[in-house]
This record gives sequence, structure tokens and C-alpha cells, in this order.
Amino acid sequence: MALIVQKFGGSSVRDDERIFNVARIITETRKKGNDVVAVVSAQGDTTDDLEAAAARINPNASKREMDMLLSAGEQMSAALLAMAIESLGYPVVSLLGWQVGVKTDSNYRNARIKSISSERINAELARKNIVIVAGFQGINKYDDISTLGRGGSDTSAVALAAALRADKCQIYTDVDGVYTADPRIVKGAKKLEEITYDEMLELATLGAQVLQNRSVEMGKKYGIPIEVLSSLEDKPGTIVKEVVKVEKMLIRGVARDNDVSRLSIIGIKDTPGMAFKIFSALARKRVNVDIILQSVGRDGTKDITFTVPKSQSKDAIEVLHEMLPSLNAMNVICDDHVSKVSIVGAGMETHPGVASKMFEALYEADINIQMISTSEIKISVLIDMDDADKAVQVVHDAFIK
Ligand code: ADP
Ligand code: ASP
Ligand code: MG
Repeated sequence: MALIVQKFGGSSVRDDERIFNVARIITETRKKGNDVVAVVSAQGDTTDDLEAAAARINPNASKREMDMLLSAGEQMSAALLAMAIESLGYPVVSLLGWQVGVKTDSNYRNARIKSISSERINAELARKNIVIVAGFQGINKYDDISTLGRGGSDTSAVALAAALRADKCQIYTDVDGVYTADPRIVKGAKKLEEITYDEMLELATLGAQVLQNRSVEMGKKYGIPIEVLSSLEDKPGTIVKEVVKVEKMLIRGVARDNDVSRLSIIGIKDTPGMAFKIFSALARKRVNVDIILQSVGRDGTKDITFTVPKSQSKDAIEVLHEMLPSLNAMNVICDDHVSKVSIVGAGMETHPGVASKMFEALYEADINIQMISTSEIKISVLIDMDDADKAVQVVHDAFIK
């Protein structure tokens, strides 16, 4: 008998019919003699709706109260799913994050899991219960509820699989695996049989929302293979693991991220220590800086441009405005209408010409590149948001036949 952790995302439980569909997947797995722990997300757009309700009441609500609110979505779906399983005649119990000992740090809205105690779940499994766990949530050292960032139920599932030493971790979603690009946007996107943790981590971090990046990090750290598959079609999905079969693929995927703002500080005094001043002040405000570009100094001044997540641009601009006099700089410019388009693949490390091929595809489509950043296994470009869909398609066409 195996222990299987199965996670079901928001679209997989969006209405009564889908809840029963998931209940059947779980009970079928149980019928085959397995122990099942199922992690569930909030139904459909519930989390978005709760965010919108909060914004109407108080756009500056504290993060603590936001987590109190957002975690409610998963409580509802966990209970409804348990009721559906009860009605099919199986023993079941639903539990919240704190009840299964998901301990997190105190970074509300984006908390990290620090530990999980397996006691309660093991006791329920010993009683022959199917266990349903509300994803996306935990409890911090103040006994307050925290949430794990958007898409965080994926991470709840992989963390539980690690803590319980599960034999399998399956992430059920509304597509049948990980593709070379978002199959809802890109024509000709191909399903991957396998992908390495490192490549999936890059794709997830660069905007492929099919898995939360922290879930991939967790899978890699604890050596848990993650299977991504459809809750609507019974067929094999994609396995995320350490080593994959050698395939003649230069790049594994293309991703797009619209959650980017570009900030420029213009006319900074061209002396040592300016970058340190700027980025240490941003770090103190917990702003995550991504691509950084500094112009060559001219007439004693220079410009520094960088990107941050959209949600942090207000904080960043505040910090920068306060600093302008001490930098001797003229002003700060912010552009929210940008997208980051990236290609990812371990193969590019050993193949020259990958960057130029990407830039050629963008040039032929008449798309202007604003910024570029590279690492061993990825190349990202910042472009106008209006060009993003076209950019992903032409870059995908250039590499994946
Ligand atoms: P869930 O509600 O199950 O957590 P998500 O909406 O978070 O589902 O993630 C699934 C979605 O991710 C898909 O519907 C698809 O549009 C999107 N997606 C983006 N990039 C990819 C990719 N490379 N492969 C598969 N799906 C992707
Ligand atoms: N319900 C949360 C969200 O929408 C968590 C998740 O779906 O994984 O982000
Ligand atoms: Mg998700």
C-alpha cells in the first residue's frame, strides 16, 4: 500500500460537479488500496473575489487580516470535498493548516513553511480516514494564520509529501501537464513528458503559473518527484524530477510574466557607492529587485534602471523619492506596462547562438527589447506589454518545431 498526496487546484473544484469529480479521483485511488492525503485550493476565483472584497472595505488592510480572510476559501472547499466523499460512503476528515501543524514564518501573504508535524495526519490515516487538507495556509509563532503566496497550495502539497514521506505527489490541474509554453496562449505548445527541477523552477519563477516556484524548490530539496496532470482527463502528465531523459531540445520552455514594473533613476551622480545606496535602501524595504541596468556615465551622471514586482513598485518609488537629494539625482520614472518574456533550457549552456536566435525572432516581429538578462539556463527580455503575446509565440516558433 502506498501513501499518495494529491493536490487539486481552484478550477478542479470550481463547482459541485467538479467537486464530485475530484471526490471520485480520490476514492478511486483509495479503492486501489492506497492511503490518500488530498490538498485542496479555494474554488474557482474565490481568492480573487476575497481580495477584491478586502480592497472595497479597506485598500490598506493589514496583511494579517488579509490572511485571516484569504485562508477562508480553502476551508470551504476542504469541507465541501469531505462532504462529497462522505456521500460516496468513504471515511474522511478535513483539516486546516494549523490542525496538521503547518508552521510558517511571520511573513504574512507570502509565508514560508518552516515545519510540518505528521502526527495528526498519521493518526487519521491509521483510523482509515481519507485526509483532506486546506492548502495555502499555515500558522506562525504568534498562533496567527498565514498564507503562502498565490499558488501556494502546490507548496502545501509538496511539503506534506516530504513530511509524510509519501510515495507520490500528484498536482491535478486544468491542463494535462507542463508544456513548452502556456497551452492556452501559444499555438503549437508541446507537452513535456519530463522536466528537471532546475528548469521547472526557472519557468515557474519566470511566470509559468502551473506550479508555484516554491513547490519546485521544495521538491528538489527533498527529492520528491512531482507529477502534474489533468483532473478532467485520465492520462499521464509531466514528471518534474532531478534528471530527465536526454532529448534534443535546446530550450525546454517559454514563459511570460506581466507582474513587472520598470523603474529608472535619472541623473545620478557618477561616483562610487550609488548602487549600494539605492539597492540597500530597497532591500531594507523588502523590495525584490530583478533585472538591473546601469548606463555608462556621461557628464558626471548616470542612470540606473531595474525591475520589481508590480505590487512593490509603490514602496520602491517612495524609497527612491526620499533618496533623490542624497543621490544628486533628477527624477524617478516608472513604467507598469511591460512584460518579461523568457526562454529556459539546460541545453543552452553548451550551445552558442541561442540568444541571437531569440533576438532575431523578436526583430523579425518588430518587437523592441528594453532590457536583457541571462543566466546559465535562461534568457529574459523586457518588452512592451502589448507585444507580449506575439513575442511568446514567435520565440516559441523559433525554437520548438
Ligand atoms: P490550479 O488552479 O490548478 O492551481 P493554475 O491556474 O494555477 O491552476 O495553473 C494552471 C494554468 O497554468 C494552466 O491553465 C495554464 O494556462 C497555465 N500555464 C502557464 N504556463 C504553463 C505551461 N508552461 N504549461 C502548462 N500550463 C501553463
Ligand atoms: N487559492 C490560492 C490562490 O488562488 C492558492 C492556490 O490556488 O494554490 O492563489
Ligand atoms: Mg495554481
